[in-house]
Amino acid sequence: MSIAERLEEVRRRISQAGNATLVAVSKTHPATAIREAYATGQRDFGENYAQELTAKRAELADLQDIRWHFIGALQSNKAKLVVPGTTLVHAVDRLSVADALSRRAVGAGTVCEALIEVNVGGEESKAGAAPEAVEQLIAALAGLPGLRIRGLMCVPPPVADAERSRPSFRRLRLLRDDLRRRHPSVELLSMGMTGDFEVAIAEGATHVRIGTAIFGAREARPAQ
Ligand SMILES: *Cc1c(COP(=O)(O)O)cnc(C)c1O
Repeated sequence: MSIAERLEEVRRRISQAGNATLVAVSKTHPATAIREAYATGQRDFGENYAQELTAKRAELADLQDIRWHFIGALQSNKAKLVVPGTTLVHAVDRLSVADALSRRAVGAGTVCEALIEVNVGGEESKAGAAPEAVEQLIAALAGLPGLRIRGLMCVPPPVADAERSRPSFRRLRLLRDDLRRRHPSVELLSMGMTGDFEVAIAEGATHVRIGTAIFGAREARPAQ
């Protein structure tokens, strides 16, 4: 199947499940694959590695209305590669990274919109803020002039059956509902990947991040 055919199928499944912005996760795939998806009308693309994002953004600079999402773990010293030029940073989980993004945005005269990654599964050695620490983090980030927290993101533990991710997605939604009462800008929910996006949409995802179902299987991550 071509990328165009796969995209059509993914869009059909999304609209059957509800309504969410499709972020096409193009990490490890070449710029030509992104052009193919773009030609079908896809505009939102997700990348995980700062150098790879920078290289592709340069290669695809002629696609002026493309929107880049940074969905990976970010190191503070790479904030300059991500801002400006990124629509949404999905996985902020600590003050140091947030501060670097904010400073970079202020320097560029913009505001960086970001989500907080939450470790909903409470897994050891996994990125993301603990659910009970998220509000404190939001309060700590409120003073950063170049950063605006727009919602939450999660990557639940891998499971064989998508239904088993449902409690994680629900937990993120309930956390968002609660936070939103006191922090009205906390609206978005980035959750759901190739294996479980329909369940995520049923639980209220506003953004799904889908790679394999669109671009096919990935090789191992590229060297940085
Ligand atoms: C790679 C990746 C995705 C896409 O995963 P697929 O299973 O290929 O759809 C989504 N989110 C994050 C954070 C990723 O790293």
